[in-house]
Amino acid sequence: MAGLASIIEPMSGGRRPRDPECVFCRIVASELPSSPLRDDDCLIAIRDIAPGAPTHILILPREHIPSAADLTEGDGPLLGRVFEVAAGLARSEGIAERGYRVVTNVGTWGGQTVDHLHFHLMGGRSFSWPPG
Ligand code: 5GP
Ligand code: ZN
Repeated sequence: MAGLASIIEPMSGGRRPRDPECVFCRIVASELPSSPLRDDDCLIAIRDIAPGAPTHILILPREHIPSAADLTEGDGPLLGRVFEVAAGLARSEGIAERGYRVVTNVGTWGGQTVDHLHFHLMGGRSFSWPPG
């Protein structure tokens, strides 16, 4: 009998199952091409396919976490790594000195279009507040 395990397989090392239909899971698994700026045991960083700023990088955990609404206290080390990587990339991209934005969208009204947790690192121009 075809069970859930036949369509959703665990990612190696991950605690949450990967989603075979998820575009970011497919990028993480190298099923879709990408040129990661950073690729380690828990996250990758890639340039956004439709940049909204001169620097627009996506930082995404390897694990399929649908959104920030699914994070728990146990994800603290992952989040620390995300922001450490964001700061390092901001320096290497030359946007650290003037400032930048790190944002994650949650759900439809939050503007989330890919249901795999990711953080936008954006810089190279000034941003208004509040966002539109
Ligand atoms: P969200 O709208 O969920 O906050 O952000 C999703 C982001 O992923 C968008 O900025 C979109 O341009 C980007 N994106 C969607 N598909 C791909 C893809 O296949 N490759 C890359 N590099 N970015 C993607
Ligand atoms: Zn995914």
